[in-house]
Formats: sequence, C-alpha cells, structure tokens
Amino acid sequence: MSTSGAELIRRIKEQVSEIDPSEARSQNGNGTILVDVRETEEFDAGHIPGAKHVPRGYLESRIEAAVPDRDAHVILYCASGNRSALAAKTLQEELGYDNVESLKGGITLWKDRGYDVEVPKSLTKEQRERYSRHLLVPEVGVEGQQKLLDAKVLLLGAGGLGSPAALYLAAAGVGTLGIVDDDDVDLSNLQRQVIHDTARIGTPKVDSAEQTITALNPDVEVVKYPVRLDASNIMEILTDRGGYDVVVDGLDNFPTRYLLNDASVRLQVPVVSAAILGFEGQLSVFKPYDGPCYRCLFPEPPPAELAPSCGANGVLGVLPGTMGLFQATEVIKLIIGEGDSLVGRLLLYDALATTFQEVKVRRDPECPICARDPESITDEEMGVFPDYEAFCAAAG
Ligand SMILES: [Zn+2]
Repeated sequence: MSTSGAELIRRIKEQVSEIDPSEARSQNGNGTILVDVRETEEFDAGHIPGAKHVPRGYLESRIEAAVPDRDAHVILYCASGNRSALAAKTLQEELGYDNVESLKGGITLWKDRGYDVEVPKSLTKEQRERYSRHLLVPEVGVEGQQKLLDAKVLLLGAGGLGSPAALYLAAAGVGTLGIVDDDDVDLSNLQRQVIHDTARIGTPKVDSAEQTITALNPDVEVVKYPVRLDASNIMEILTDRGGYDVVVDGLDNFPTRYLLNDASVRLQVPVVSAAILGFEGQLSVFKPYDGPCYRCLFPEPPPAELAPSCGANGVLGVLPGTMGLFQATEVIKLIIGEGDSLVGRLLLYDALATTFQEVKVRRDPECPICARDPESITDEEMGVFPDYEAFCAAAG
C-alpha cells in the first residue's frame, strides 16, 4: 500500500531531531552551521544571516563543499520545516552526518518570532539572463556581476580608445559610466570611434555615446561631462557621484595626462592608461601607491616631435579598438578583484609585427608626486610642467 506525502513527512519528522528557532538562534555561529535548503529565488528573497545555501536538489553533490566536517552541528532549514526534515534524514542516513537537526517551523516561524533576516542584493531575472555568460565564469559569478553593476568608471574621451572601452564596459554591466568629452562627432572620427555613427555627425560625442550605451544596456547610467578636462574641473569630476572607482585614460595630450596623474594619486583612484602611435600601442595600469605613477614612468614629457596621438597623425582604425578593449579588460579585473593587473608593467603592442613586449616599471622613490602623502599634494602643484598644449590639442 502506498503512503501519502503528508504521512511520509510526518513519519520522517519523527526520525529527525527538530530544533526550536530560539535555540537555533543562540547556537548560530558558535560552531553550528545553518544550511538553507530552499530554491535560489527563496534564498535571495531573504535568509538567516550567515546561513549557507545548498538547495535540496543539490544536497548530495554540494553539502561536502559547504560542510566538510561530518561531525559538525548542522541545522537545516526551509520555508516551514518539511523539506529540511527530508534533507536531514538524507544527511544522517546516507551521507554520514551525525549531528543534524531541522529547524522547527522553518524560516516562517523564525520570522514570526521577529528574528533577523538578511536580504542580499540580487540580480533580476532579466539581469540573470543578460549576464548569464558572466555568471558561468567562476571569477565573475553573481558576486562579480554585482560589483560591476555597483561600479563607477570614468572615461576620459569618447574617441578612439574610449569608444570600444565604453561599449564593452556597458555591455558588461558597469552600472555608472561617466564620459568627459567636449567634442562633436566628425565624419573623420567614424573610421575608429565605433560608438558614434553617420547620422550623429555634428552632435556632441557625450550625447551620441549615451544614445548607443542606453540602447545597448539600460542597466547603465551615463553621466555626461561635455567639458575639456582641466585643473579647474578635474577634482570635481573625479569625486562626482561619490567618487569614481577607476579612470580610463584615453587622453591624447601630455598636459592633461600629468594633471590626471597628480589628481588620481591625490584621490588614490587607479587609472588604466593607453596610448597609440602609428601601428604601436602602449598600455599600463597606474594604481596609486601600489605601483608606479605616470610621472614615475615619464618624469618628463618627450620632445614635441615624438609626442603621440596628435589629431593630425594617422592611425590604423583597429588599433585604438584593440587597445581600448585591453583597457576595458583591465578595468573589469580591477572591479572584480581577479587576475594580475598591469600595475608596474608597461605593455607594448606592435600591430604590424603582431608582437607584444612587456617592460617592468618601478616606483621612483624620488617621484615628485607619488613619493609623498596624498594629502600633501596641493592644487598648485597638480599638472605642473612645461606648456605643451600648443602643439597637440586636438582629439584622437
Ligand atoms: Zn610616481
């Protein structure tokens, strides 16, 4: 004769130990491990603080990772105490856990008693689908995706480097993208500045970039700065929105690069910097006090005739694309905290030969900026160096 489901659960409950929420609460954390066996949506809607999550359907395959010690005191819980009782029976009878209990009344009774529930930030159903290929990468996952969505990245320039970087950072779900650019879209930009298009010739680049980004990913908020970055506005822009987490440097002139360096060291914001010249690209990450700054690498600007990226110079259209995507990659690694970033390394890419070279760069103990405390860097000192503005002012 077959048994009804309710009868089966009643019988199983007689075979497992049930623990009252008040007792479970006093033992939580003191060597006792709470395991939530509900589905992911239920767990995300709120769970007991500190609880591990092992959905019942994955109990056999995942419990050992969550609770390696079979002698540990384990309290399983679900919504009302039925699923956790079934799971407790499996753990003690088939998986060798000796000290397993099931929370009486589940999280429902726990909540009725007014005990704490933790509601994690979670991705919406649509975000889970949009970023599903990120969620499958262990180094990103839900946690990394949440970091990306919470991140604020400032792009200096929506030009050759900024266009591909902005497109891919937007696609990756970086929640806030600030864009500084005072130029309008020009026909000659479109050979490489792929965030803009023919219909937008004559419109401000920040507006054009915003349109493309918003159409690509509505999760991204674009903050527009249609200005030229200078000493009068740099601190205000870098600290806007509570302060940017990373800066993408697509600048094309030395005065602003030095200014950016000094401000970013003072604010301790990492800068992912790229430069292009002819068929060659350079890339590095300047993370203040972790590695060298831009001035450690280039104590003095090169002679005017060697300065790269003036507007009048030719550039292979794909090269800023390649370098801009390297920048986006370094930005994402910094945000999710994975991998080895290019801090202290200068990467040189030769597109014609298809070769990469890497140069180690060390902090200069005599550096006029990063050898000092950030608080001691004054407004007057920032960006100080001979005036090169005259020879290279146009945008890349
Ligand atoms: Zn330095």
